Amino acid sequence: MPKLPIAKLGNPILRQVAAKVDPRDIRTYDMQQFIDNLIETMLDEPGIGLAAPQVSRSIQLVVMGCDGEDGFPRTVLINPKIVFYGPQQVENWEGCLSVDGLRGKVTRPSVVRVQALDRHGKSLDIEATGLYAVCIQHEVDHLIGKVFLDRMTDMSTLTQLPEFSKYWQHDPVPVI
Ligand code: ZN
Repeated sequence: MPKLPIAKLGNPILRQVAAKVDPRDIRTYDMQQFIDNLIETMLDEPGIGLAAPQVSRSIQLVVMGCDGEDGFPRTVLINPKIVFYGPQQVENWEGCLSVDGLRGKVTRPSVVRVQALDRHGKSLDIEATGLYAVCIQHEVDHLIGKVFLDRMTDMSTLTQLPEFSKYWQHDPVPVI
């Protein structure tokens, strides 16, 4: 399956509000193929999340998944809506497949509850914490034309990749 080209910062599609997916279109061959392509592109990059606008398709669809200790299951969210934000805020490093070579600290609620449709059109209701919660918020932001840079409260943490591993931390930050 072809790997899809990633839209990079500056491409106006990343700043658009994505259109809702008509639930009747979810089970079509085209949509199922697109979801598989999106997942394959995410794994190939590699990233732990990818939103449809990041491959220049401005629809409300995101895929995510991450193996390992703070990992979370493979998730497809269609027309996601965050219905609850926990009261506690946490700071995490973020990076983005659409923003090459930069990392920055972003403060977000530590818990979110999201409702969406899955890739079969069934209702999903997920409460997420940790990296899963970060990933959901980062991806849902892509559907409203926001990138993590817009969410940074302290721009002095913005760092390029070689400086990140030199001055901040050795462990790489998963890109979303
Ligand atoms: Zn991103």
